[in-house]
Amino acid sequence: MAERVDFVVIGAGMAGVSAAAELAASGSVVIVERESAPGAHSTGRSAALYSQIYGNAPIRALSRASRAFLAAPPEGFAPAPLLQPRGTLFVALAGREAALDAWRAEPDVTAGTEPWTLEQARARVPILAGAPLAAAAYEQDSHDVDVDALLQGYLRQFRARGGRLVPGAEAVAIERRGNRWHVTAGDRAFEADVVVNAAGAWADRVARLAGVREIGLVPKRRTALLVAAPEGHAIAAWPMVIDCEESLYFKYDAGRLLISPADETPVEPCDAQPDELDVAIAVDRYEQLTGQTVRRVLSSWAGLRSFVADRAPAIGFDPEARGFFWLCGQGGYGIQTAPAAARLAAHLATGRAPPADLVAHGVDVAALDPARLRD
Ligand SMILES: Cc1cc2nc3c(=O)[nH]c(=O)nc-3n(C[C@H](O)[C@H](O)[C@H](O)COP(=O)(O)OP(=O)(O)OC[C@H]3O[C@@H](n4cnc5c(N)ncnc54)[C@H](O)[C@@H]3O)c2cc1C
Repeated sequence: MAERVDFVVIGAGMAGVSAAAELAASGSVVIVERESAPGAHSTGRSAALYSQIYGNAPIRALSRASRAFLAAPPEGFAPAPLLQPRGTLFVALAGREAALDAWRAEPDVTAGTEPWTLEQARARVPILAGAPLAAAAYEQDSHDVDVDALLQGYLRQFRARGGRLVPGAEAVAIERRGNRWHVTAGDRAFEADVVVNAAGAWADRVARLAGVREIGLVPKRRTALLVAAPEGHAIAAWPMVIDCEESLYFKYDAGRLLISPADETPVEPCDAQPDELDVAIAVDRYEQLTGQTVRRVLSSWAGLRSFVADRAPAIGFDPEARGFFWLCGQGGYGIQTAPAAARLAAHLATGRAPPADLVAHGVDVAALDPARLRD
């Protein structure tokens, strides 16, 4: 016998959990998650950055609109601040000045960064002393996000509002019968008015299960690794350093340095594992830029950043399948955009207009509407 609820959310990553917490204020919500714990895939593998100028215009609007929540979450949401100042130093390699100039000419970027001299850049991050750099720009207002605290905060809020998480329950059948969706997940069955597809890299697979047309989501693998702090350097206060054409970044991470070759290899949805070649490329690019020698890679991992064709998320009801709600395609920005994306999703999924503060920050529902992805 199927249990009757208002909403079934598929996937307990940052997207599913945050949206479910918002939805639980309006009705009964169940999250079904294939893994035994939330956050096991992309959410647990991110670089944990909040930057207002990373990503395209729809992403930046969602990021701006998420800032207030991340900087000052509701009382009792998290035991410690969710954001810690980090700063991001964007650099252009010699001969690539035009790329930094073109990027800095975008109005959001002009407003959000200041040009830095190479002396300033090298004073803040001394291992760039010999780096073949042409230009630099600094974003002050970027931060480390405590991803686990954010996820756990939303989970607590979700449960306090009566929501239930069912782990170890893969949605294996999703069927429209009459006015409701019937979802079979693990050994449970649910009947709901609305299904929220927050299945991350698997979102098109979930759509297929439900007999809904896909939106062309492409999971792209990204690799990260940790190395020891360069000897003799106090790295905790270093900004994140990123090549403005995104071929390399490195960032302080709990006493070590996180390095990524910023790879985007299209793959099938899976439990992504790092490829040795990508790890070697990351080490090589870092060594070339900084002149440092990496003696040992302490650990490495990979995760999936999933994009549709225009690299903006899909947030909204499917135009052809009543009650089927998309919340996916966050690419490399699903942590920093989660608070605004979750509120928007909850408003749209309950038939309300988008929150006025989100609109004031430039969040454009049409730019996120899954209908744009249909021909
Ligand atoms: C290396 C790396 C660095 C990143 N850095 C940043 C960053 O600095 N800042 C930032 O904002 N973002 C960053 N991101 C992106 C961010 O991690 C993602 O956008 C975000 O985690 C996506 O969350 P999600 O909930 O959509 O997906 P996921 O966390 O992958 O969750 C989807 C869940 O759905 C479940 N699922 C799938 N199919 C089913 C099914 N049939 N039934 C039940 N459950 C199912 C999966 O098991 C999974 O738990 C990074 C990502 C990577 C890989």
